[in-house]
Amino acid sequence: MLSFSEALQIVLGAARPLDAEKVALRECLGRVLAEDVVSDIDMPPFDKSAMDGYACRRADIRNPLESVEVIPAGIKPQRTLGKNQCAKIMTGAPVPEGADCVLMVEQTRLDPGGRVLFLGKEADHHIFFKGGDVRAGEVVLRRFGKIGPQHVAILATVGKVQPLVSRRPKVGVIATGDELVEPSQFPPPFSIRNSNSYQLCAQVRAADSIPTYYGIAKDRDEEIDTRLKQALKENDVVLLSGGVSMGDFDLTPEIMKRNGIDIRFDSIAIKPGKPTHFGVAEGACCFGLPGNPVSAFLQFEILVKPFLYKLMGHDLRILHTTAVLEQDVSVRPSDRESWIPVSLVSGNRAMPLTYHGSAHINAMAEADGFIVIPVGSTGLSRGTTVRVRHL
Ligand code: AMP
Ligand code: MG
Repeated sequence: MLSFSEALQIVLGAARPLDAEKVALRECLGRVLAEDVVSDIDMPPFDKSAMDGYACRRADIRNPLESVEVIPAGIKPQRTLGKNQCAKIMTGAPVPEGADCVLMVEQTRLDPGGRVLFLGKEADHHIFFKGGDVRAGEVVLRRFGKIGPQHVAILATVGKVQPLVSRRPKVGVIATGDELVEPSQFPPPFSIRNSNSYQLCAQVRAADSIPTYYGIAKDRDEEIDTRLKQALKENDVVLLSGGVSMGDFDLTPEIMKRNGIDIRFDSIAIKPGKPTHFGVAEGACCFGLPGNPVSAFLQFEILVKPFLYKLMGHDLRILHTTAVLEQDVSVRPSDRESWIPVSLVSGNRAMPLTYHGSAHINAMAEADGFIVIPVGSTGLSRGTTVRVRHL
């Protein structure tokens, strides 16, 4: 049985980068850049006033100043300032020739003759100098970074209206299980609703990838086989849920192998989610996820999600918070580590969620993250400092 980090290494090592495509600026949020982005301009493009006020020569600030023009943003100043002259200037407007500082309007008043008096003690220059933020030709965004809203602003600033980004992974989702019905149906006796497929499709979308749902396969060879064949043909990744444990009707691993999937591991030392399978075929990779919803949820989070970003060339950053445990957590000592969902209370206190086991998806409603109870441990007591891995 592999440890989580061994399994993750195998998964990430199997990722073959997807090709790139251009997208419109409006559509690029969440995508992964496939090129370094270079600025085509200096920023600011000219010496720019940081304040509404009066541009003048610093040497003159103790003298009454004669205002010679008004400079709105976007307009070229008409005058070069001389001794004891100033120009009324707006934030973002170009600083006129001759001026080397801007007096904040709040720190000035006009004398009876209409001349400007500076009331402040010291005058900062309040000028953003040309090229002070970015030089033309400078790399402003690196390849393989994920585009967030602030990166959209940077792309817009440098005129990159069609950034080159990695193609989004296509992910096929297949549920297996005789007991499953679709959520729109009230489950007949001994059946349950298929939640995994909807959860997994949502997780795929949240990971900036494209899900396709292939329906519920009964626990019969040909039902799983047909769907798997089609999904392998049409996707970069296939997620099966259910049928990977030791039951008489757990057919998934054999069908995976028969479809040319080279199984790289068939179990990991994590609770929940031990029987997670991962394999590689010619055109796609395949995860056989356990049927229990919390297992499927967690295994997607910790293995599939980093894999999807790796296909796009991006190394997903995992965020952790250090927190103090609010309640005792006890587990049966095991040869697997236990991942326990917690909610974060006022930022740095971790409340373990009442959790009956891997079928108990409702426990996840309040989850902000997971803590890990190591192999062999019987749990952690209240007050212990823990590391919370964020969802
Ligand atoms: P399995 O891995 O097929 O043995 O399933 C383990 C448990 O997960 C069983 O109790 C199943 O009923 C449940 N299960 C399997 N597939 C799903 C699904 N798609 N949605 C919700 N629960 C499921
Ligand atoms: Mg099953």
